[in-house]
Amino acid sequence: MNDFVSTPCIRCGKDRIFKKSWKEKLDNKGTMMTIVEAICPDKDCQKIVDAMFAEKREKRIAAENRNKSIKLKPTPEAPIKLN
Ligand SMILES: [Zn+2]
Repeated sequence: MNDFVSTPCIRCGKDRIFKKSWKEKLDNKGTMMTIVEAICPDKDCQKIVDAMFAEKREKRIAAENRNKSIKLKPTPEAPIKLN
């Protein structure tokens, strides 16, 4: 965690604290990237921030699904549900 740079909490502006870091493969070229997770020192604030992100993620997934269903042509091979 030597290269951890604290960023302020998006909600209350307090310097966030280091929680954990891990390495993740970014793409199929095998590029490794260190992901750092930082949290607000205020537990209640962090809960609200988490909820905000969860809501955003859900909205994005919903929007992506909408786009997909518009783009995708109906596949005649797909089994038809009768009930
Ligand atoms: Zn905060």
